[in-house]
Amino acid sequence: MTPIEQLRSTLATLSLTAIDARLDALLETAAKKEPSYADFLAEVINTEADARRQRYLKARLQLAHLPYLKTFQQFDFSFQPSIDERQISELRTLRFVHEAANVILQGPPGVGKTHLAVALAECAIQAGQAAYCMTAHDLVTDLGRAYREGRLDRRLRVYLAPKVLIIDEMGYLPLDDLGATIFFQLVSARYERGSIILTSNKSYGEWGSIFGDPIIATAILDRLLHHSTTINIRGESYRLKERRKAGLIPMQDQQREQQANSTNSRGKRNSL
Ligand code: ADP
Ligand code: MG
Repeated sequence: MTPIEQLRSTLATLSLTAIDARLDALLETAAKKEPSYADFLAEVINTEADARRQRYLKARLQLAHLPYLKTFQQFDFSFQPSIDERQISELRTLRFVHEAANVILQGPPGVGKTHLAVALAECAIQAGQAAYCMTAHDLVTDLGRAYREGRLDRRLRVYLAPKVLIIDEMGYLPLDDLGATIFFQLVSARYERGSIILTSNKSYGEWGSIFGDPIIATAILDRLLHHSTTINIRGESYRLKERRKAGLIPMQDQQREQQANSTNSRGKRNSL
């Protein structure tokens, strides 16, 4: 075996796959640039460390159960002037995660609520925090089943463990009594312990109708809003804009969607 073959075999034994994959390039660059021993060693070790970090982030992103992956770079703020970019910059520092504070994104369909929630989760994951995303409906269905099977406490832990929990699409569907109670339990248990990023098409005044009970709605809002940032997006649907650009929407549909969006932002209707 040549020394290089021996090296490759050892790299394989130690599962140093990234160094193995870049070995030729690493050696060639070193021969050309003649770095110090320390620099060369650092370069080699960092190759493996970076690859591991990427793998770890990828795994965390997969575990987060995001509906899609979008970042702040992909968000066109000029399209939504109602968003205060300073507020977004502050959120991007992730202070809210360290303070276990919440973020509530409100607005009609298609204005970027889920996109911004996902982008914040991505930032948190890049910073080494765990995030998990679920629609309000799926969350309550899952916990309702656990309750009926007598394992609610155990199942709740899944939603208590990540530092960031996205609860998407709150308010599209009303919750029954059990759903409301479970939701209250979850919000209480995360209160001052972990952040919730919640997206909703409903204004706070309409929360009574989501829960069918103004008292429980008030109790939930009380805990949710105590340490929180609300981002109220009053704008046009980005989906609508994209479809219009592609010439896919007949005029009367376009007007109907616009109307639905504007009534939504005043909170009178909840879906398209
Ligand atoms: P909702 O407010 O209903 O949750 P989404 O956040 O899912 O809407 O946005 C709908 C689609 O439009 C997504 O693909 C999202 O990435 C895109 N989108 C929304 N707003 C913007 C924006 N300002 N810039 C770029 N893409 C946007
Ligand atoms: Mg959404």
